[in-house]
Amino acid sequence: MTSRAVLVTGASRGIGRAVAAAFATGGDRVAIHHRDSADLAEALRADLPGDGHVVVRADLADPDAVREMVDDAAGRLGGLDVLVNNAGVFGPADPPHPVFGSSYEQWRQRWREVLDTNLFGAANASWCAAQHMRERGGRIVNVSSRGAFRGEPANPAYGASKAGLNALGQSLAVALAPYGIAVATVAPGFVETDMTNEHLKSPRGEAVRAQSPFGRVARPEEIAAAVHWLASPQAQWASGTIVDLNGASYLRS
Ligand code: NAD
Repeated sequence: MTSRAVLVTGASRGIGRAVAAAFATGGDRVAIHHRDSADLAEALRADLPGDGHVVVRADLADPDAVREMVDDAAGRLGGLDVLVNNAGVFGPADPPHPVFGSSYEQWRQRWREVLDTNLFGAANASWCAAQHMRERGGRIVNVSSRGAFRGEPANPAYGASKAGLNALGQSLAVALAPYGIAVATVAPGFVETDMTNEHLKSPRGEAVRAQSPFGRVARPEEIAAAVHWLASPQAQWASGTIVDLNGASYLRS
């Protein structure tokens, strides 16, 4: 298989880092996107197997920066074959009650921050990436969440942003199929990353592990493997799917 040009958002750590490694290990050239982690992104670029990887930067909540970043990645990689919309924000765990624990201003700020990145950032990156894929086809893979199906009582904006991302993926799967662009989504449950570190160390973390028939949460590499396959040439028929990656955690009554 020839080397493809792959842009992974939020690739300096966590799931994004594992996704970047999976593509590089498969022989692809990766644009490692970060917002404020230049050192981590640069270190990853140096560590990844293969040549031709680049580091790109943008705040995904800034639509102009997103466009510049996607064009920068495509320019330096020689086009774009794959976009992985991985970057996301959960927002502060406090206040504990999202409605009665916060002021109206805090509530609005949280919705703005979470939607701007998780949904609008991914939508804008998808539009920009599709311009580069129009003639050559491509793959877009979104990293959603279990919260998209079940809501997120502690953070309704997060659940809504990920439900929106699911619908975005399904809509684009249909709209972009005539151009040979397949779009799919993964929806993980808990994964061991900086986003969940504190939560998993708390007593609620024990409950999360207890709910899993494997007695653990996911490793980033397990999510990355699914993303890598969904972006493969063999996976065009998976376009429009939302892969629920939960290790059977929610099947026990
Ligand atoms: P993480 O916090 O380690 O990584 C998130 C990345 O997104 C970071 O690199 C961060 O800098 C980047 N990011 C956030 N806001 C940004 C912005 N405005 N502009 C640019 N970059 C921004 O967490 P992770 O667990 O690796 O998360 C990766 C994705 O997986 C996220 O979309 C998250 O919602 C999703 N997810 C995580 C879990 C989990 O349990 N960890 C579960 C389901 C889904």
